[in-house]
Amino acid sequence: TNFLSDNSGQHDATPSGRLSRSAPFVISEALSRALIERQLRVIYQPQVQGHDECLAGFEALLRWHHPVQGEIAPSAFIPVAESTGLISSLGQWVIEEVCRQIRRWRSQGYQVPLVAINVSVLQLNQSLLTQVARVLADYHLEGACLEFEITESRLMQNFDECVHVLSGLRQQGIRISLDDFGTGYSSLDKLALLPLDRLKLDKCFVEALTGASHGYHMIEAVVRMAHALHLAVVAEGVETPRQQQLLGELSCDILQGYLFGAGGDANTVISYLSRDPDDAPVHDPNARRPA
Ligand code: C2E
Ligand code: MG
Ligand code: MG
Ligand code: MG
Repeated sequence: TNFLSDNSGQHDATPSGRLSRSAPFVISEALSRALIERQLRVIYQPQVQGHDECLAGFEALLRWHHPVQGEIAPSAFIPVAESTGLISSLGQWVIEEVCRQIRRWRSQGYQVPLVAINVSVLQLNQSLLTQVARVLADYHLEGACLEFEITESRLMQNFDECVHVLSGLRQQGIRISLDDFGTGYSSLDKLALLPLDRLKLDKCFVEALTGASHGYHMIEAVVRMAHALHLAVVAEGVETPRQQQLLGELSCDILQGYLFGAGGDANTVISYLSRDPDDAPVHDPNARRPA
């Protein structure tokens, strides 16, 4: 396989638009090296239950620290990984890394409720099913400790195969969540046909909650629809106690955002797990900034 074939120049710039002095920085080339040279890591952002703020799980978020360019955002490199085909090995690395980490936490005596992994629609094929089954078996894990987040844009392009693969994942016990809900183009009739467990409300809805009055009613309607379809609702981008309060009123099941923590490494996760929910609130004012 040749991951370096994308030399069209289209991705030569750094996220800030600069070019490095010696050679142009080509994200696709650097990214395939990043995988080999251990420049990637995963951080874990807490998710809490809407009604009592108890820890519900974590979302795994990929981080890339390039030795010269510094931190490169997923929004800059995930699309490149998708357009070059590198997303399969990248995505597989994330799944393997998360499973390795869950096993490590367990061997240290910590039970992590659930870890949600972002999975590109381009990964949804037959070989994902066998890969995931193998990784779960290798680390002696049950599928119920994982959730896969799929972004709704693109899902509709290859609908039948996606449904088939998502069903296969659910048969392994993995929960499926539809990420960035409300920002794509999914038709509502197809939504009901997707094998889903959760809808993840995009943070733009949470932002709109405290703005114009229709923001509140929009979420109210989405929650009602989701619950009618037996889906739990996760709100992302929760940053203020006011948003938390309103989302609670609206029966939003799970909350995630800087208010509860921006995400951190394996040891940060342990500090969340060791916390007693009765005498220490999950939200730590020092953990609100992005990692
Ligand atoms: P996403 O899955 O919707 O993830 C949520 C994004 O919102 C994350 O950005 C997270 O850091 C950020 N966020 C969390 N809480 C707050 C908040 O309170 N306020 C605001 N303004 N932002 C918040 P991040 O980590 O930069 O990831 C961006 C996107 O990149 C993700 O969106 C996801 O689509 C993609 N991504 C990240 N990791 C992976 C991965 O391992 N595989 C794939 N395929 N995509 C990934
Ligand atoms: Mg996500
Ligand atoms: Mg999202
Ligand atoms: Mg997003």
